[in-house]
Amino acid sequence: MEKQLLQDVLLDVSQLKNLQEQLKTKHPSEIIRFGVEEIGIKAITLACSFGYEDVALVDMALKVNPELDIFYLDTDLHFAETYEVRDRLSERYQKEFIRVAPNLSLQEQQEQYGDELWKREPDLCCKLRKVEPLKQFLSGYQGWITGIRREQSPTRANAEVIEWDRAFNMVKLNPLAYWTEKEVWNYIFAHDIPYNPLHDQQYPSIGCQPCTRQVKPGEDPRAGRWAGTAKTECGLHVPQST
Ligand code: SF4
Repeated sequence: MEKQLLQDVLLDVSQLKNLQEQLKTKHPSEIIRFGVEEIGIKAITLACSFGYEDVALVDMALKVNPELDIFYLDTDLHFAETYEVRDRLSERYQKEFIRVAPNLSLQEQQEQYGDELWKREPDLCCKLRKVEPLKQFLSGYQGWITGIRREQSPTRANAEVIEWDRAFNMVKLNPLAYWTEKEVWNYIFAHDIPYNPLHDQQYPSIGCQPCTRQVKPGEDPRAGRWAGTAKTECGLHVPQST
């Protein structure tokens, strides 16, 4: 399939639905392979937060093609355990992860916007430290791969394995969209993949340290993110209308 043709398919509702139906029964590795082959290894990238879905995707993606660009958004506010799992993965796969950093250091942000912006204006903080750097980075690509799963939250319940990302005007692959949490963990254990030890301490979803807390038994897996506020997403993943 020509690259322009893939974009045309994704922008046509009925063709898009056909492609989604074809791909959703495939193993996530095959969905990654489809993306890499259709879009081109230099034009597609994997977003990695070092959460459990993403470490599984790192393993799958590097087995498809070790040259794939894998990036992480370094807000400078991650848990020490998150940086440690980055280093363990880097050693295991002999892979350098691309660090995408905000334009402002934490000090500069504090000088311009005041102390602990995440407590007062988390949307602005996410915009400065995640969304804008992501937008700049993705402008160099035609497609991206994410660890979104339908089960993760109501805002992700309609995610498909392949979408046209209207926010970034590019192809978006969510190879794990239909996988359950159990399927992801089975894959991690079967392949002995390093993962963030915070997952074993009631942190099912791990973001920046100031905005992530442990969840209580029975709580939603993302209840520990921006707890006590109405915010549920960073703004990186905009639900698609088709
Ligand atoms: S998750 Fe919290 S600390 Fe991290 S960028 Fe968003 S508001 Fe800021």
